[in-house]
Amino acid sequence: MNGYVHFDADGDIAVIRIDNPPVNAGSIEVRSGILRSIERVAADPALKAAILIGVGKTFIAGSDLREFGQPLASPQLPDVIAAIEGCPKPVVAALHGAALGGGYELALGCDARVAAAGTLVGLPEVTLGIIPGAGGTQRLPRLVGQVAAIDLICSGKRVEAAEAKALGMIDAVAEGDLRAFAVAFARRLKGEKRPIRNLCVREEDAAAVYAAETAALEAGRKLPQVRDAIEAVRTATIRPFDEALATEREAFQRLRIGRAAFALRHQFFAERDSAKLPEIQDIPARAVERVAVIGAGTMGAGIALASLAAGYAVTLLEESSDALERGLQRIGDHYARRTAAGKMTADEAGRQQARLTASTDEGKLADVQLVIEAVFEDLAVKQALFRRIERIVPAHVVLASNTSYLDLDAIAEATRRPHNVIGLHFFSPANVMRLLEVVRGAYTAPDVLATGFAVGKRLGKLPILTGNAFGFIGNRIYAAYRKQCEFMLEEGALPQEIDAAVEAFGFAMGPFAVADLSGLDIAWRMRQAGTAARDPEERYVAVPDRLCEMNRLGRKTGAGYYSYPEQGKRGRPDPVVARLIAEESAAKGIVRRPFTPEQIVRRVLLTMANEAALLLAEGVTTRLTDVDLVMVNGFGFPKWEGGPAFWACCELASDPASLEADLDAIAIVSGTGFVRGELALLRRMMPEGRVPAKQG
Ligand code: NAD
Repeated sequence: MNGYVHFDADGDIAVIRIDNPPVNAGSIEVRSGILRSIERVAADPALKAAILIGVGKTFIAGSDLREFGQPLASPQLPDVIAAIEGCPKPVVAALHGAALGGGYELALGCDARVAAAGTLVGLPEVTLGIIPGAGGTQRLPRLVGQVAAIDLICSGKRVEAAEAKALGMIDAVAEGDLRAFAVAFARRLKGEKRPIRNLCVREEDAAAVYAAETAALEAGRKLPQVRDAIEAVRTATIRPFDEALATEREAFQRLRIGRAAFALRHQFFAERDSAKLPEIQDIPARAVERVAVIGAGTMGAGIALASLAAGYAVTLLEESSDALERGLQRIGDHYARRTAAGKMTADEAGRQQARLTASTDEGKLADVQLVIEAVFEDLAVKQALFRRIERIVPAHVVLASNTSYLDLDAIAEATRRPHNVIGLHFFSPANVMRLLEVVRGAYTAPDVLATGFAVGKRLGKLPILTGNAFGFIGNRIYAAYRKQCEFMLEEGALPQEIDAAVEAFGFAMGPFAVADLSGLDIAWRMRQAGTAARDPEERYVAVPDRLCEMNRLGRKTGAGYYSYPEQGKRGRPDPVVARLIAEESAAKGIVRRPFTPEQIVRRVLLTMANEAALLLAEGVTTRLTDVDLVMVNGFGFPKWEGGPAFWACCELASDPASLEADLDAIAIVSGTGFVRGELALLRRMMPEGRVPAKQG
């Protein structure tokens, strides 16, 4: 029809093929092509029915998100669906690969749906800050009922063909060739139209519907798109079909240009782009099947678990058999918990554990292809380890360090083959957290970098490139953030106020709750070690030191910024801490003043954005979008807020002067030691079209 949609026929059945590689995204060209094809089916008396099918590895995997930030060109998806419903001949959607979002809505607009085994169907719109806008919230409840529709739409879950058939989302799982199956299915309809709009939403127990709504709201953090989705499904039961469709469309159009939808699309594109690295594009990764993990502590055990789950053979190495035992215990506990909870079969747990070898003998590493060290955070220990290991492992092995703060080049320089050294910075718990900072040192060879990314992907992680600089991307920004929060303590805020403000913004946890959870003593030791190097002019908050001196090291000692009278429960604000903070303010002559939650959040976000600008200026990262991915995937930044750079770019678009003025104020109050970045750099580095023109 137009290069994106092809038209041919199988006898009296039209075959409309969608061809928009790589995932047949539903773009304007695809919509126009389908519309014209349907008109042709309607007009041609020789054709009795039609099938819609995807070329390549999938049906329409989703709408073309690039169109969503601007006015949508016609024909829009509801126009195409209206044409299918208005066509006097039945149209069968033949699904394979994925039929998601607009792709599945198109299928819902057809007279029947058949799918190849393994096809994924679903309406993941809420995960992009919107709701289905082409009838999904109206047609799906007519097929599966309100309770299931609320769950499916509000979670955005993808459902595999067999389950989709059981739920009623599709009519049949295809046997044999999909095209032939769909053509035969269409022929069997004998011209009968079966539009879903003619069905009623079946009666369901009101209490069950209410329970589904409540659960969905809770799980969806009461986000606007979740509330709108629930409302739209409710409308399906009480309003005439076309009226309800119009209401759904109105909500979709409103959400589509809202800030959260921009933010979530920004995250989507950022993720897609993070893997496209020109520096390793045509460089093959080294083969890795056998991995050594050195150190079976918190991180080593997690890295070993992630590697086993990804199918690697893992050799876990420890210094002492006691430490090895503890690590193995941790790993064993993980499998026991997973199987007990029904999340993993005993067979699978057995298979994974069978790939694990544990040892205290470095000689066991003779045939590994990748070494990941997660030993103590001590330069001399890591240097000595790599120097020794290098004599045992093959020359081509990749030597990865999980260091958080050490200089990767100094580790590399201790080896004879520094080009083999790379940083793979996992986040705790390493088998759960998606973020993986891949650190390129001065010596790292391109194929070693390519290997780091390939392994990261196989581990199911989101690998992000970073330069070798203190704290890399994430910990560097986090440190600046925590420091500003400590400044706010001295200036008048309390830990619980700061934590509550950032948690209300959407962070998983506030900085002081995090500090108590991870323990205050590690940072205390680092500060003590750095005392000599610190500029005496630098603003220094002594509150955490004083807490440590009182043996308030966090949860593990029952007290930190909060007190923890009950194990496992949230901490309680403690008057002792409030008094201590007030004393510190007084000692510095600071007159305490109240902070609103908005002031707290703005200062936090501006600090993060400032640090992002510095990271760009210093070349630690060349991609602003990577900063947002790091903060969302490693530090609990709310995804629907897009990340600190996205936030700053929105603010710069609407009111740059006050943002600059607020940053100036932060610089003044922070004093010596604070480096002010150039915020305009963020705007220049943000890809086109990511940020709403005016704050939504
Ligand atoms: P940990 O103290 O829990 O574990 C370290 C383990 O290494 C210990 O079991 C120790 O016995 C073992 N070890 C020490 N020297 C060894 C050697 N020469 N050979 C074999 N084993 C040896 O520490 P951790 O929290 O797992 O941290 C490990 C590394 O990961 C550090 O570099 C740390 O900075 C980094 N890291 C930690 C986190 C975190 O949240 N804990 C996050 C990211 C990175």
